[in-house]
Amino acid sequence: MWDGIYDVIVVGAGHAGCEAALAAARMGCKTALFTVNVDKIAEMSCNPAIGGVAKGTVVREIDALGGEMAKNIDETGIQFRILNRRKGPAVRAPRAQADKYAYRDRMRKIIENTPNLEIVQQIVDDIIVEDGKVKGVVTHINARYGAKAVVVTAGTFLKGKIFIGFKEFEGGRMWEPAANKLSNFYIRHGFKVARLKTGTPVRLDGTTIDFSKMERQDGDEPPPFFSYWTEPKEIEQIPCWLTYTTPETHRIIKENLHRSPMYGECKLISGVGVRYCPSIEDKIVKFPDKERHHVFVEPEGRNTVEFYPNGTSTSLPFDVQEKIIRSIPGLENAKIIRPAYAIEYDFVDPTHLYPTLETKIIKGLFNAGQINGTTGYEEAAGQGIVAGINAALYALNKDERFILGRDEAYIGVMIDDLVNKGVREPYRLFTSRAEYRLLIRYDNADYRLAKYGYRFGLLTREQYERVKRKYETIKVFIEKLKEVKVKPEVINPVLEKAGSTPLKESKTVYEVLKRPEVKLYEILKVISFKLDIEDRKLLEEILEEVEIEVKYEGYIKRQLEDVKKFRKLENVKIPQDFDYSIVPISTEEKQKLKEMKPLTLGQAARLEGIRPASIPILAIYIEKWKRGEVKLES
Ligand SMILES: Cc1cc2nc3c(=O)[nH]c(=O)nc-3n(C[C@H](O)[C@H](O)[C@H](O)COP(=O)(O)OP(=O)(O)OC[C@H]3O[C@@H](n4cnc5c(N)ncnc54)[C@H](O)[C@@H]3O)c2cc1C
Repeated sequence: MWDGIYDVIVVGAGHAGCEAALAAARMGCKTALFTVNVDKIAEMSCNPAIGGVAKGTVVREIDALGGEMAKNIDETGIQFRILNRRKGPAVRAPRAQADKYAYRDRMRKIIENTPNLEIVQQIVDDIIVEDGKVKGVVTHINARYGAKAVVVTAGTFLKGKIFIGFKEFEGGRMWEPAANKLSNFYIRHGFKVARLKTGTPVRLDGTTIDFSKMERQDGDEPPPFFSYWTEPKEIEQIPCWLTYTTPETHRIIKENLHRSPMYGECKLISGVGVRYCPSIEDKIVKFPDKERHHVFVEPEGRNTVEFYPNGTSTSLPFDVQEKIIRSIPGLENAKIIRPAYAIEYDFVDPTHLYPTLETKIIKGLFNAGQINGTTGYEEAAGQGIVAGINAALYALNKDERFILGRDEAYIGVMIDDLVNKGVREPYRLFTSRAEYRLLIRYDNADYRLAKYGYRFGLLTREQYERVKRKYETIKVFIEKLKEVKVKPEVINPVLEKAGSTPLKESKTVYEVLKRPEVKLYEILKVISFKLDIEDRKLLEEILEEVEIEVKYEGYIKRQLEDVKKFRKLENVKIPQDFDYSIVPISTEEKQKLKEMKPLTLGQAARLEGIRPASIPILAIYIEKWKRGEVKLES
């Protein structure tokens, strides 16, 4: 009766699906990865880049959990940079320009060569459910595959509709069919399904671009790789270019707004778009006083002439797209290889999910990535690895579930926001979404998360030992810096060079290092105390960490105090059979809690519509319930 039987089926081989499938297979589950087109595994639908502020931290978190994204971009990237290097560590982040074809090819090779993992090129039309539990999937050719757990990562494919001006056609991405049936499964089972939209710019022929009219942007040397496990190496980095829109660009857009499927005479698109990554016409309408907008002209790979004009995403008709491009300095004669377009698609309300990303309606069914209303490869991959781990735990009949806290990871912040607040527009990560951003930095993702990667078998013992050794060394080194004193005649030349007040008497290195303008590597050049570590990469990681820990000690301590308060509520688990009707709070609050099924008191406190005053009352009743002093009302 089955065409194949698996522990875990992952629907979708985008950024979420790849991480989910790899995690499940590496945890020992027989796994199948279903995709519309096997040649488009890990396709970068839009910008050929990984990382950026907050997103780069997510990539490091995935790496620390034993995922693939960081390694994949390190092996296939063509330009690497640290953003906000001169700003505080909470907002610093790595970003890389990808060779999108090499990125895709390498990920496919990794998936093809992972034991327990099979690729199936078929469109999943339906999910089989029995007694509230997932049993398998049915595909467009009526094949049936059984599974204990199913992870859906369908991206923009659910009833995807593409728009170029008033021309509209079905598609999950340009030139790929939409998955038109799977959202009906969700609707049938009582999930809320709604529409969102996003868009992408034209792709240009680089041989027709005049780069002499643009500002050149080079990568950092040596290239700052993402993964903790990538060895330093030299690579040939390729520049990106910066140009700007002109008054002529703005005039063309304003004059043609009536031909836009969003603003025009026939409003074809109703889905809400990405506020922080708007189309060029959105920017002109919403910021009419801004004289020009950035256009970053980015290569799509080493062996292609195609360039991506970042910042010019549009759904205006093709003749207008041509005019817009030609009005930008350096692009006057640029030839368009692929047109820009907008896409509208179904997403499933993420408040139907537990923080494990399992649905509350159907056991063993998990959703991850853009289907949950997010946007971005990193956001998708971050959810993918969490869903993959939890699907594997479920399929292996383990009692444990994997939930990341807001104080542990950006991935934890994102999932907590999604499942508790839902989305009204495509959700993207920012540093401002994280309360404890000085604790969840890009540099210390291994400290925070490698223990989980190791526990679930996604990191080797050797990898985990490296992380433990690193942080033990950091601790010892900081203590040593508190003991070692430097004399003014030794340190003052360093202080003078840094523009810092000279010392009059000896002070500990620790005290000197607290000064923001003084760098640790400059101090180490003049003191006799050295760290005896041959591994250059490890040494650099340790020095960066020590510098941050010492300089930001006060702020870090304060955030740790806040985390203690946060954990007090977070550690109070709510029994899943708890009867909210016994709690003397408003009926609306009781309904909300019953519907949302929070796992902890902390999660209950973050739900919209739950008053802060109700939380201590709820705490008392949960305690009474656990002691058996109150019972289910019949
Ligand atoms: C036109 C466009 C523009 C975008 N612009 C931006 C942007 O500016 N900024 C940004 O951050 N993000 C942008 N994105 C979003 C970004 O591409 C996604 O956030 C990211 O790729 C989501 O990853 P995912 O794994 O959830 O889904 P995707 O990468 O979309 O992958 C979905 C996968 O699911 C498969 N699939 C779908 N349904 C089925 C089914 N029923 N059966 C089998 N396989 C199925 C597909 O074949 C595909 O492999 C854009 C996307 C598109 C399409």
